Amino acid sequence: MFPASITHSLPVLFQTTESPAYQTCPYCGFRLMEVWPSTDITSSSRVEHCPICGYQHDIHGLIPAKPMTRAEKLFAFDRWLWRHSLDRRLLQSHYHVRPEQFFSKGAL
Ligand SMILES: [Zn+2]
Repeated sequence: MFPASITHSLPVLFQTTESPAYQTCPYCGFRLMEVWPSTDITSSSRVEHCPICGYQHDIHGLIPAKPMTRAEKLFAFDRWLWRHSLDRRLLQSHYHVRPEQFFSKGAL
């Protein structure tokens, strides 16, 4: 499990002020897997981190994704929303989006 502040600590850790790009996680289908650009410290390797399934690929190697049920994905999704000061009710009522829209088709 990653510390709750990982999305905020990565820029410090890799001494970058850049924001991550996002790609679909190849393991759990979450569409906002973070992809951080390479830096001098990461020696041309970009860093990939999925806040849902825990997949991470960085200079230390690969942390594989863990298999997850729908309930586990939703729990991790709620935790990710909370870190961004959001919740499912606010997503639905204000932004009119559902959790399924954050995952590739059929992944949730
Ligand atoms: Zn994932």
